[in-house]
Amino acid sequence: MNPASISTAPRRLLARVRDVMAGEGSAQSRLDKITAIIAADLVTEVCSVYVRRAGDVLELFSTQGLSPKAVHVTRLRFGEGLIGEIAARAAPLALSDAQAHPNFVFRPETGEDEFHSLMGVPVLRAGRVVGVAAVQNKTERQYTDEEIETLQTVAMVLAEMVAGGELISRHELMPTDGIALKPLRLEGTCFSIGLGIGQAVLHEPSFDIGDLVAEDPEQEMVRLHEAFTAMLGQLDTILSQSPLTAGEGGEHEDVLEAFRMVAEDAGWLRRTEEAVTSGLTAEAAVLKVKNEMRARLGASSDPYLRERMHDMEDLGNRLLKQLLGTITVDKDDLPEHVILVARNMGPAELLEYDHTRLRGLVLEEGSATSHVAIVARALDIPVMGHVREVLSKIDNGESIIVDGQHSQVLVRPGEDVQQAFHETRKALEQIKAQYAQLKDLPAKTLDGIEVSLSINAGLLFDFDQIETTGANGVGLYRTEVPFMVRAEFPDVPAQRTLYEKVLDRANGKPVVFRTIDVGGDKVLPYWGELDEENPAMGWRAIRICLDRPAILRQQLRALIQAAQGRDIHVMFPMIAEVEEFDAAKKLLQRELDREKERGGILPEHVYTGVMLEVPALALQLDKLLKRVDFVSVGSNDLMQFLYATDRGNAHVSERYDILSPFALGFLKSVRDRCDQANVPVSVCGAAAGNPLEAMALVGIGFRRLSMPPPALGPVKEMIRSMSERQVAQFVHSVLEIPRVSIRPRLKAFAKDHGIKI
Ligand code: PEP
Ligand code: MG
Repeated sequence: MNPASISTAPRRLLARVRDVMAGEGSAQSRLDKITAIIAADLVTEVCSVYVRRAGDVLELFSTQGLSPKAVHVTRLRFGEGLIGEIAARAAPLALSDAQAHPNFVFRPETGEDEFHSLMGVPVLRAGRVVGVAAVQNKTERQYTDEEIETLQTVAMVLAEMVAGGELISRHELMPTDGIALKPLRLEGTCFSIGLGIGQAVLHEPSFDIGDLVAEDPEQEMVRLHEAFTAMLGQLDTILSQSPLTAGEGGEHEDVLEAFRMVAEDAGWLRRTEEAVTSGLTAEAAVLKVKNEMRARLGASSDPYLRERMHDMEDLGNRLLKQLLGTITVDKDDLPEHVILVARNMGPAELLEYDHTRLRGLVLEEGSATSHVAIVARALDIPVMGHVREVLSKIDNGESIIVDGQHSQVLVRPGEDVQQAFHETRKALEQIKAQYAQLKDLPAKTLDGIEVSLSINAGLLFDFDQIETTGANGVGLYRTEVPFMVRAEFPDVPAQRTLYEKVLDRANGKPVVFRTIDVGGDKVLPYWGELDEENPAMGWRAIRICLDRPAILRQQLRALIQAAQGRDIHVMFPMIAEVEEFDAAKKLLQRELDREKERGGILPEHVYTGVMLEVPALALQLDKLLKRVDFVSVGSNDLMQFLYATDRGNAHVSERYDILSPFALGFLKSVRDRCDQANVPVSVCGAAAGNPLEAMALVGIGFRRLSMPPPALGPVKEMIRSMSERQVAQFVHSVLEIPRVSIRPRLKAFAKDHGIKI
């Protein structure tokens, strides 16, 4: 590092601000001194500091240059005026003609009409806007990037002052009702099903930075690099010792590998180096970059960017721990039953905790496809996400319940509630054990009709469930899931390796490979957004594959090679026209021919089928059934298109019911036609996994169902308690009634006949 490149001006300012902060006097008087110093240093006529108060209001706390009468009087809401805009966007703003900006609002008490230019930056603390610092000039001044950078650096110091609780109470800093100690019920989204009870361990590390301003910038640069190297080493150790990476590999490894790549991202290190150059200590520089990135990307709706941001945050925290010498999570210090609470976390962070003690994970953010959720599911840990502001509503050690079933988190539940949940959990465990006992028994009705039950799988981990549930095989392997968790599109060898493992784990039981079904709600992070108005009905699944045949051909090639002579089942999704099936099958044939020419071993049998999920296809069964080896009804999409109701939109998704005479009649006609043509037909949508729906499906003649692994036990139990003849008779008797739903009638019937739904 060339010493000349370490600029001294911001460092001097920082040092002065730091001295004032550590000096005598009330918080208000010190803040006033700081605003004066900033104004003098940046040669501005005004410097003002606004602090965020409860209710997302920004209050003018100190000013040099505006009317003193406005202090503690002028208040702006988030998004209101230029100051509100800086806060709302969590980004700096520099305008030579501020009054021309459409968001400018004039506050007469401040006397700011004589100032034309304005530069402001958010005051960020732990990625949250806690205030705004702004300077103004009478002239139409063009503020430079260096000046913005300087004000941002000073804003870090201000953030510490605000967080210190001297200016406003800590209560007000919290974005909550602030009422501690009473039990709370918080809602969220379930990312991994299950019920967990334990003590909260707040993952959010709070770092006591101490010195923000570097005495010796060159030394700081050395510290930064040393910490970075140590962090990479530590990361490698964690990844190599992870319970998920030991041995067999799989998608989790890809997730962790992608994370390792983020760690080596040069841009991230460069930005931190720049902050050190401007005079911050190594730890303050890391914190600054972390905060800015969070503020910038936190609001992004791009899932890829958001995921990267969480990984970066994880890395930032790691680096801070290295620099500050804080010991990482002390595993022996953890309670016996841990519910981790975090804003978000990276997969490596989760793996740092002793997973045998983890009972649940609660996140303020995240998504079901986020890396941490995928890893948590693989570890069978219940996860609730989108639980708003949970971190500020709970303290370390408090009791907490994660109830994925009802998408809720109970904070500080009373003794009676805890007791009730302990009992529920015990009961669930007993039921699980009971289902496990059913594993080797046939799914046979009381009157001797056998139903074939398979599981739906996405990750390699799911394949273990074939054994634990006693399933007949995998009725739906969603091959896009491994594509979704990777950092880039997998090539043929990578896919081949994965499919080999899949077939090995299935151990001779059939696996229906559904070819890649991306688009719609299944986003590949590296493909970017397609920006479609109706993505579910847009360019997705087979439509993409027929337009870009290389994708499908590569997948089929990998599968054929992975089979090594074993049978394969290939299912094409979203087929709407018979010709599309023909075209897809032609691609499959080309790959088989290619493999033959190469002298490769061909699969013994290749069974080809379709996923029936577009109603148009159901009207072409005559032609279709002559061509396919099997049909699988994707009831999720089929219902969505049959009724024109978005399956993910809570306002309408429950408006129509598959348990209606029309929908059941429709499915029955499909089943009957397949039966007449001697083509095996199954149902693999969510309906097959709900005992009541499964009962009705068996009643209309379906003999093959495929479902998520946890559903297999309950569905098998239901089948073993029903008489096919009685159910069929009843279902047929209600098929003519014009109703949106016959759910209550079916429930009552099940109850009257002792069917375990
Ligand atoms: C379906 O549409 O019913 C189905 C099983 O596929 P997915 O849920 O993956 O779209
Ligand atoms: Mg579908």
